[in-house]
Amino acid sequence: MQSAAQPILPGSVIGVLGSGQLGRMFAIAARRMGYRVHTFSPESDTPTGQVADLEIEASYDDLDAVRRFARAVSVVTFEFENVPAATAEAASECVPVRPSGSVLHTTQNRLREKNFLSRHRFPVTPFRVVNSEEDLKAGLIELGVPAVLKTAGFGYDGKGQTLISSHEAASFAFRSVSGQEMILEAFVNFSRELSVIAARGIDGTFAHWGVIENIHRRHILDISIAPAILSHETKRQAIEITRSVVEELEVVGVICVEFFETAGGELLINEIAPRPHNSGHLTFDACLTSQFEQQLRAVCGLPLGSTELLRPAAMANLLGDLWQMGEPDWDRACAFPEVKLHLYGKLSPKPGRKMGHLTALAETPEKAARIVRAAREALNFMDSD
Ligand code: AMP
Repeated sequence: MQSAAQPILPGSVIGVLGSGQLGRMFAIAARRMGYRVHTFSPESDTPTGQVADLEIEASYDDLDAVRRFARAVSVVTFEFENVPAATAEAASECVPVRPSGSVLHTTQNRLREKNFLSRHRFPVTPFRVVNSEEDLKAGLIELGVPAVLKTAGFGYDGKGQTLISSHEAASFAFRSVSGQEMILEAFVNFSRELSVIAARGIDGTFAHWGVIENIHRRHILDISIAPAILSHETKRQAIEITRSVVEELEVVGVICVEFFETAGGELLINEIAPRPHNSGHLTFDACLTSQFEQQLRAVCGLPLGSTELLRPAAMANLLGDLWQMGEPDWDRACAFPEVKLHLYGKLSPKPGRKMGHLTALAETPEKAARIVRAAREALNFMDSD
């Protein structure tokens, strides 16, 4: 097996578990630097597969197929944190898996993640474990209403979440998610949502892209703006918390820490993702080294690149809802010269599904946000004839 001291150089093959847009942008960065990319997922003609050298369609539970995939590459990484632990373990019998299966294990379940964060005294949203309707009712009394009931596993973009607005609504909410492991979280009346994306190299080097402000709509990320306008002290705290999380987890690769900023200026960790993150897509166009190239550098044992933000930037997600009246007229977004269009090659645009994004660069973050919103609105504009 390749040793930690020996970098994996261009020309080598990188294995990606998962095949969505994160893998696609990772593969674009890797191919640009002369690497080959193999992707493994249960689907075909995927966003990653369309730009990879090889797309393997097999179940994550087919461990023989996972081992065959791993033997043909120099390192395995993932773009999807819900890959089963056994899959990462089977791959690690053959090649290094970065970040490690243990990072995946901690972060793919909200309860394990919250327990890890609390154990290390990181500031987290108050929560309770819910195994029964009685636990839920007791939790609502302790945390107060409203509160958010979340499934512990397989949750993202608000999936598996129920807002409970009154004690009377507890039974109904419990029945709607019962049968799964759950946690109840206090509802945070946040003033803003922020994220810090950071990377750690094999040698422990740390790099971060500063603080990004995120605006969600229907629990799905809508707009990200960099740099977030915030006090020097809040920025310092967000970065130091992220640095400590990365070090405690001993991540090799890119990680995102998502925060709620309360009205009183307190930072609470909402969740962590052990991979490039939607709020960092703007780094592709706006930074000297994107989060995708950095993931590649980290997992290959190369020195990390500069994360310098070349210009303030904003990103707007393009969800499947935009396709309701047919294919959007891309000319309209391209008519904004400071806007970059990214489409993920997904074949069926469903409401809420992330199909692509726009990034705008400008002199100020506010201006970048105005431009990216205007470009997306232009796509919605319909000719009357
Ligand atoms: P999550 O999948 O947990 O990141 O949740 C998606 C979005 O739902 C977050 O970015 C918030 O906008 C909202 N949300 C989740 N949990 C809470 C909470 N405890 N209090 C308030 N809003 C929340």
